[in-house]
This record gives sequence, C-alpha cells and structure tokens, in this order.
Amino acid sequence: MVSNTNKILNILKKFTKNELISLFNIALDSAKSNEPDMKSDCRYCSSNKVILYGKKHGKQRFMCKDCGRTFITTTCTIREMSHQPYDVWEGMIEDTLNGNSLSHSELRLGISHQTAFNMRHKILLSLQDIERANPLMLQDVTELDETFVLECYKGKSLPSYVTRKPRKHGAKALKRGISNEFICICSGAQRKSNVFLKAVNRAKPSSIEVSEVFDGHIADGTLILTDGLRSYNVLEDVADCTIKNVTGEKTSFYNLNTVNSLHSFVKEQYKFYRGVATKYINRYCTLFEYAFRSRISDVEKLKAAILKIERAYTIENIKVESLSHI
Ligand SMILES: [Zn+2]
Repeated sequence: MVSNTNKILNILKKFTKNELISLFNIALDSAKSNEPDMKSDCRYCSSNKVILYGKKHGKQRFMCKDCGRTFITTTCTIREMSHQPYDVWEGMIEDTLNGNSLSHSELRLGISHQTAFNMRHKILLSLQDIERANPLMLQDVTELDETFVLECYKGKSLPSYVTRKPRKHGAKALKRGISNEFICICSGAQRKSNVFLKAVNRAKPSSIEVSEVFDGHIADGTLILTDGLRSYNVLEDVADCTIKNVTGEKTSFYNLNTVNSLHSFVKEQYKFYRGVATKYINRYCTLFEYAFRSRISDVEKLKAAILKIERAYTIENIKVESLSHI
C-alpha cells in the first residue's frame, strides 16, 4: 500500500517548478500567524456590512453586503497581486528602510531579482504616498543647500542624447567641476528634525525651481540659512520667513553643518547603492529623507504604515509614476 507521503510526492512530481513555488507560497501564506486581522470595512465602499465568503488561493475572502463586491486581505494594499507572503513583505520593507541592497534581500528572503526590484519600488512609491499625505514642513532654524550626484543609467544602455562612453562602477565624471553629468539635489535640513530632498535639474537651481521645490514645505517664522545663492530669496514670497547668508560667518550658530551632514549621508548611500538610476532619483530621495532622520528607530512604525496603506501598486505604476526626467 502506498503511504500518504508517497501519494503526495507522486502528485507533486506532476507540477512544474513554478507551480511548486506558488503552491509553496500559498502554503506559507496560510500557515503564517503574524498577519494581523484585516479590518472589517469594505475595501471599496467602506461599509461595515462585510461577511466571510469562502476562500481564494487559501486566503479568506469577504463579501460586502452593500456593494456586493468581494475582496481578500490583500485587496487595495501594497501586497495586492503579489504572491509573496506577509513575512517576506515585512522583510523587504525592513531591508529597504535599513538601506540594504537588493541582492541582500534576494538571498535573505529567497526571492528573484525581479521580485525584489518590484517590491522595492512599490515600497518607495508607498513612502512617497505617505509623505504626500503628511507634507513635510521645515521650520525653526532650517539650512538649505544643494548637492550634486553623478547621473546614472544603471541597468540600461545610455540614451541617444548622451554622447559620452558608459562609466565603470566608481569611475569619476569626465569633466571637472559641475557639468551636465551631475544631477542637482535641493536639500533642506531643519536642525534636529526633518529633512527634505528633491532632484531638480543638472545645474544650480533657479528661483522658479527653488519655489516649486519648497512651496508648502516652509513654515512661517522659519529662519533659513543658505550659502548666499540668490535663488533662495524667492522663498520670502513663499512663506513669511527670514533668509540669512552664512558665508563668512564666524559664530558657531550660523553654519550649514546639518545640511552638510545630510549631503555626506546621501553620498554614502549613493555609493553604497552604486549609484541610483537617475529616473528613480526622487523615489530614493524620499527614502533617504526617512533614513537620515529616523535611522533605525522608526522602522517598525513606518513598516506598519506601509503595510496599512490603502492602495495597490501595479507594474505600470513602477514603470511610469514619479520618474525624474532630468
Ligand atoms: Zn462595499
């Protein structure tokens, strides 16, 4: 008589490798115990008249008695359309917030490069959504400056308008000083508090760009310290703030030390990631903002916020949303 184990093994032999992987993930998904209970409200109409409605791929399905639609725990969340179980998502979010590389996550979580890439970019998009919902406000004493990072066409051949040869990892720019090979990141650092980063173009920012970048992010009454770049004067129209050029100041108060340490952090991160593809630079800028101030302490809070976000991200979102056309 064939034992139950052998019967199961015989059945499993008929599956392809990919089918086995998804079967394994479904088993893991239903076995996991750390997934919080879903909230009882309907994902589509927010009604609370929701009933249990069987299972789909091992996941509990629900039905809304008001709008008649069905959904599962992952519907309208960052995990929608993903075969990865909850703990892999937790691991990927932790790795992203802790600044670990994609190859680190691939090995640690047993996922493919493409899966790690897609999950990473869904997480970056969710961080941008979280920031949009809670716009960052710089106040009190805030230092503003710019930093420059090398353009990067990681993973892609150079676009036709770039006439230089591709650079090797760690190679320097061809021209000395600030050239069009550099991307300018506008930075704001409130002392002992929030920081703000946004890539705008390839040169020192114009008044229009400064106004676009910081509008809505400078509180009234802020003392803004700069190195004297005139474009920042436009901020007096954006908020009721005072702008002070600290170049040549000898006192210990009037300096740009906070924004300079933010720039060192960005450059370290940039080096660690071996460049960030220029089209994704602003997605990573948002990550750097959170990483610089929260470092390790806020990871749990942020992880919970990402997992609770009420939005699904598609491959199309990853391809087109918030790209930097610099
Ligand atoms: Zn409903």
